[in-house]
Amino acid sequence: MTVLDTARAALSTGPVCDACLGRVVADRSFGLANDERGRGLRVAVALEDDDTFEEPDAECWVCEGECARHDWWAQNGAAALRGYEFDTYQVGTRVPPLFEENDRLLREEAGLDPEAGEQFKSAFNREVGKRLGARTGTEVDFDRPDVVVLCDLTTDEVDVQVNSAFVYGRYRKRQRDIPQTEWPCRECNGTGRKRDELCEGCDGTGYRYDESVEQLTAPVVEDAMDGTGATFHGAGREDIDARMLGTGRPFVVEVDRPRRRHVDTETLEAEINDFAAGKVEVEELCLATHEMVERVKELPASKTYRAEVAFAEPVAAEGFAAALETLAGATIRQETPQRVDHRRASKTRTRQVYEISGELAGAREATVEIHGEGGLYVKELVHGDEEQTEPSLAGLVGVGADVTALDVLAVEGEDEPFERDEFFRTGER
Ligand SMILES: [Zn+2]
Ligand SMILES: [Zn+2]
Repeated sequence: MTVLDTARAALSTGPVCDACLGRVVADRSFGLANDERGRGLRVAVALEDDDTFEEPDAECWVCEGECARHDWWAQNGAAALRGYEFDTYQVGTRVPPLFEENDRLLREEAGLDPEAGEQFKSAFNREVGKRLGARTGTEVDFDRPDVVVLCDLTTDEVDVQVNSAFVYGRYRKRQRDIPQTEWPCRECNGTGRKRDELCEGCDGTGYRYDESVEQLTAPVVEDAMDGTGATFHGAGREDIDARMLGTGRPFVVEVDRPRRRHVDTETLEAEINDFAAGKVEVEELCLATHEMVERVKELPASKTYRAEVAFAEPVAAEGFAAALETLAGATIRQETPQRVDHRRASKTRTRQVYEISGELAGAREATVEIHGEGGLYVKELVHGDEEQTEPSLAGLVGVGADVTALDVLAVEGEDEPFERDEFFRTGER
């Protein structure tokens, strides 16, 4: 069948609009919008049949006139997005089952394959999307748009989904006893109340600790982006009693339903540092993509620690030096410490000590710097965890040892994944 025969058959089914006519034969000519193609076919059929050309005199039975309302939907979509800053969008359409049935019937009557041309939904998404983009000066993104406009043709309503915005940075925790993320009180499950009374475990705050790196940073980002919530994602975490110093630890703050996305990260950095009052510091702040969250979480990082060590008995300088020499470059076997896994330790793993150096300060105290593979339990490397970590500093010097203070000095990706531009929203930092 020629395309004209197909068009003639389609037109004989009843009033069909240009867009629907052009759509079912969309794979037969390119470079035209569906309605232009449909228009051309309608004219060509009239010429060939020596017929008087007539506009369709009734509403299209396939789309019930929806194809004439692309502008209306785009206008409503733009209105629903008012107040939200965005650079990219996507349009989705909920199509009434009747339309899909009509779509199928039209093809059948016109002698077409059920999959021929373009489906109603994808044509609708594109046509509304094109108009929405022109109205708002933004671009379509099929992968991860800032916003999604949902046209519900069953209810005539527009719904808007606003995707999260992300800010990447590195933080230093200058004060001990601050957890990285919010730590809900276990006694009241974070509600702050117990049997209709203030929870005594947390003084009604709902938190085990008053502050966290998250609470000292994320609310400022949420505020700057005018969102409805914020989540802190860290590249691993240090112990609550350890400081995070040196070059800091990578993190991403995710803001829900942001109204603003184009925030000035230098200003934001200053605002966070002001808010965190020296307990936590952030730097290298920049706008990132959602992929950065996964990057940060999966970071196979190596870490550098500084540990203050107290020995149970005096240690000789030669014994101490020999122990460090043995540990440098060594592969350490560790069972999961009890402090990490409260059910009894079961898993054994091996981690590398890349470098280690140290200095005795008196006979029973030392400062040790350790550069180790991600996942190495450093406190256990020092005290030996009742011989469940082998070798260990305590085991090698033959004297009990404990970590009295721990600082993380550096967290580094093995392949520096954070230097790559693709995860940032702008080229500049
Ligand atoms: Zn139609
Ligand atoms: Zn509580």
